[in-house]
Parts: sequence; C-alpha cells; structure tokens
Amino acid sequence: MNAVPDDRGYFGDFGGAYLPPHLEEEMAKVAAMYNTLKNDPEFLAEITEIQKHYQGRPTPVTFLRGLTARQGGAQIYVKREDLNHSGAHKLNHCAGEVLLAKRLGKTKVIAETGAGQHGVALATAAAYLGLDCEIHMGAIDIEKEHPNVIRMQLLGAKVVPVTIGQQTLKEAVDSAFETYAQEFDTALYCIGSVVGPHPFPMMVRDFQAVVGTEARQQIQDHIGRLPDAVVACVGGGSNAMGLFSGFLADEQVKLYGVEPGGRGTKLGEHAATITYGSPGIIHGFNTLLLTDEDGEIAPVYCVASGLDYPGVGPEHAYLHSINRVTYEVANDQEALDAFYTLSKSDGIIPALESAHAIAYAMRLAPTMSADQVILVNLSGRGDKDIDFVVNTYGLGNE
Ligand SMILES: *Cc1c(COP(=O)(O)O)cnc(C)c1O
Repeated sequence: MNAVPDDRGYFGDFGGAYLPPHLEEEMAKVAAMYNTLKNDPEFLAEITEIQKHYQGRPTPVTFLRGLTARQGGAQIYVKREDLNHSGAHKLNHCAGEVLLAKRLGKTKVIAETGAGQHGVALATAAAYLGLDCEIHMGAIDIEKEHPNVIRMQLLGAKVVPVTIGQQTLKEAVDSAFETYAQEFDTALYCIGSVVGPHPFPMMVRDFQAVVGTEARQQIQDHIGRLPDAVVACVGGGSNAMGLFSGFLADEQVKLYGVEPGGRGTKLGEHAATITYGSPGIIHGFNTLLLTDEDGEIAPVYCVASGLDYPGVGPEHAYLHSINRVTYEVANDQEALDAFYTLSKSDGIIPALESAHAIAYAMRLAPTMSADQVILVNLSGRGDKDIDFVVNTYGLGNE
C-alpha cells in the first residue's frame, strides 16, 4: 500500500538503520515480525479491538464554529486526538508497539521520556496489555515534570532517574538504549515518534494511520468531499504522519506540517528542523538535523516540550524533498495565542504542541474562501499545560 520505505528502511535519501553490530540481527527480527503481523488478520483485529473498546476510537471530527467565525475565510475542522484515552495521539503507537512486543515474546518494554508524555502513554499500554515497563528520565526532568512521574508510577512503570551529563532527554535516550542493548532478549525498545532506526518510522506511522483513515471518512461525512488543506504540528512527526497518510494520495489536498519557531530564528531558540536543518545522522537514522558549526547536535527550544527534537522523522524529510508537504513555522507567541483563543472560541483547551497547528490554521484560513475547508490535527488536550501557562502568562485577556 505504501511506496516508502524500501526494504532497507529508506524514504528517498532518508531513514535506514545505523546500529551497533550486535543489535542489527535483533532489529532485523523486529522488522520481519512486523512485516508478517501487518498482514495478519488476527493481529489487526486485536489492534482494532483495543482502539474501539479501550482507547475510545474513533475520535470525532469537530467543526470549529467559533474560530471559523472569528478568523473569517475557510471553515476550520479538527480531528479530536485530545479525546483519545490518556489525552493524546501517542497511545495509538504505544498500544501497537506493546502488542508487537508481546508477539515477539518479550516481557518488558523500555523507553526514555523527556517531559513524560511518551512515558505515560507507554506505561498506559503496558498496564493494559500486561507487560513490565521501564522508563528512563533525566533527573532534571523528573524534578520538573512531577505529575507525569507520579502517573507513570501509578500505572506500574519503573522510572529510572538518569544522572549523567545534562540529566535531560539526550542522556535518557543513551541510558534507555544501553539497557535495551543488554536486555533485548526479553525486552523491546519502544520509540516515541516516527524516528529511530528502521523499522520504527514505518511501524509508528502505520500505527498512527488510523487517525488519517478515520478523518478522511469523517470529513467527507461532514462536507461531502475532501478538505482543501490538512494541518498538523511536527515534533518527531508521528501525529502529522498519522493524519497525512489518509490524504497523501489525494493530490488536490494541500498538506502543511507546522514546526516550532520557539522564541527566535537563531540556533538554540527553536526546533524547526526542516526549515533550518541539514542532513545528518541521529539516534540510528539519517534525516535533517539542527547542528552547530562543528556538526554537533544543537540545543533546541520550544514552549511545547513535545516538539523540541533536533531531528525529524525521515518520511517528513522525504515528503519535503519531493514537495508533497509544505513545512511552515509557528512560534511560541502564536501558539500561546492559539491556546487562549481556541479555549474561549470553541471550548477546547489544546495541548501547546497542537496549538502550533491551530496557530497556523488561524493564519491560513483568512487567505482562503468561505467555501474552502481546513482540517487540523488536535493532537492532544491541554490539561498538562494549564498550570505552566497560567502561572507564566496569566489567563489570557480575550
Ligand atoms: C508528543 C506530542 C506531539 C509531538 O510528537 P509528534 O511525534 O510530532 O506527533 C504533538 N502533540 C502532542 C499532544 C504530543 O503529546
């Protein structure tokens, strides 16, 4: 069904698997098992069953009456991943990864987490499906993201504090990967987005494709045709790949990925990888990267911690290279404005990540006509961001 990746995991020039030799064989086994399972009716039925009766899918598509009236121009609809169990799209791929781990005969899943969103989603899926879960997290992040640490522990996960280096996400990745390299006989490493070595970018995309499949039908039920534009925020790129995959073959549908512009255009002030990056290798795959003049991975920043990744999924780098998707930037201020505006205009408090996609739709709508339609992925709910936003910026003044 999908033309990419090829069987070595390449999306055009991007992707692949750059692994330590002792893991090559194991990763090939994971890829082979996945290639069998993706055509196995029993496996697919199990995923559909979990989506329907545990996650609460399908999530609806909602017309934003208030925001459309306020902005003028195109009609704005949102795909409601904020209503997916645990409050974001991440559970879509975490449930798939944990189910895959079970089929591989593993008893445990391992991952790192930055702000804790991936850790919570994976701990949720592991609890439901009965596997052990170990989450590596920088000691600084553990301090900052206390509620998510408590959530993971309540869900039965073991949270491992990482105290080397800067004690944040990068060190957590190293630490989780080290553990996996020792325990791959009994454990599967579960990546949090459409990134990492083959087969992860393909698998995570396929597990997220339910978002696009549902939305393509639902928007047609609303308006009797396909939308003119589809918009999603891009961190690693999983929620965007999920929604885009429903529309990639429809050439008349314009696709927009929105990268975080942070607080400025200088290196270190944003995480807009496609807009400002260049090719290189990170975390086992080839993609566009933000690097400094010495070629070292640059620090990144965004008000939404789920978007601050210095690389991007290889399929996004590819879709950019063939001009199928347009990548735009929304900065912190625009995302915060969208956060406050959508809360009051339509009664939906969006995650700060999703607010970047809403912000771009708010800019795009007035440039289009009233009979045109924009569909935005509302990747998650904003409950996790409320304390931070209100304590830092207040209640908003609209
Ligand atoms: C993690 C997260 C993102 C960013 O991840 P992608 O892989 O780019 O989708 C976006 N929105 C929410 C709500 C998230 O939790």
